[in-house]
Amino acid sequence: MASRKLITVFGATGAQGGAVVRALLGNPEFAVRAVTRNLDGNGAQELKKLKVEVVKGDTDDKEGLKKILSGAYGCFLVTNYFDHFDKNREIQQGKNVADACKAAGIKHLVFSGLDNTEGSGAAGPVHHLDGKAKIEDYIEQTGVSYTSTRTSFYNENFLNFNPPRKIGDNKYAISLPMGDKPLYMMAVNDVGPWVVEILKDPAKYKGKKLHLAGDKLTLDQVCDTLSKHLKPKQFQYVPVSVEDFAKMPFPGAEEMANMFHFFQLKADNFRDVALTRKLYSKTQTFDAWVQANKEKIIQALK
Ligand code: NAP
Repeated sequence: MASRKLITVFGATGAQGGAVVRALLGNPEFAVRAVTRNLDGNGAQELKKLKVEVVKGDTDDKEGLKKILSGAYGCFLVTNYFDHFDKNREIQQGKNVADACKAAGIKHLVFSGLDNTEGSGAAGPVHHLDGKAKIEDYIEQTGVSYTSTRTSFYNENFLNFNPPRKIGDNKYAISLPMGDKPLYMMAVNDVGPWVVEILKDPAKYKGKKLHLAGDKLTLDQVCDTLSKHLKPKQFQYVPVSVEDFAKMPFPGAEEMANMFHFFQLKADNFRDVALTRKLYSKTQTFDAWVQANKEKIIQALK
């Protein structure tokens, strides 16, 4: 058998990178090198159980990245703004990996990119989107063959970031500042098969920014879907304004409010669900995701 194509995966202990590791392992064409900053952490231990090569690495460490990329055919990169809330640092981390990919001569880089919101009319800056758009630009300048997977709102946010809150007996509310505009959503696990499809045929996706989502639903529709599958629990969308969301007491609330405002402005064509399903036909609808995750959703309810 021809030797496997080695893919260096950043964020391997996290949501997107973890999904990519698991999907690559299901494909005999590929071998995985999983990157973490902490080889002793739970995430690294879980990866080792999968018999994956796990290496220590940090996107802040330019020199160390060379070794991590050496011998690799491809790379998956997700940067994590929420690790430090510093746009310039996120941009530099992305640049460091792009430079290391170029120096190592890798054949294809898949970057988890996002959109530039500057000049969009959004209520204020959305640093975690704008930084990733700048990284996309930089990767393009390096000449490294790449694809950007521009993702959407994780369904899993309803398990952690924004679980429905109790407002009465078996009654729950979801409040996000989307007005009556649809939200583009996805099951984060689908990032894995999307990236595998790209790495199987890089020439087809080279230089493209893929606008990916598994569903496009208003929050009324999100609540209807939850109510349908989690009876007798009932879910209701309780709108909140961008201004009020910005004042909520959690780190980055203002930036998230600006992000939802940007989502409202782009609601007509932010992502392409049909294209996403063409890339991977089993991309999950929100309905399918809820059916598969009923227990987890119930546990997350406040
Ligand atoms: P996550 O589950 O929180 O995991 C973060 C991962 O990044 C971990 O594997 C961590 O590895 C790794 N990491 C962080 N800093 C690193 C560094 N300096 N060097 C090497 N690895 C580093 O994150 P995720 O959800 O997969 O991805 C986060 C990104 O997704 C954010 O930037 C966000 O903008 C974007 N995003 C989120 C959503 C959403 O709805 N939540 C939607 C679209 C895009 P170790 O800790 O093991 O080192």
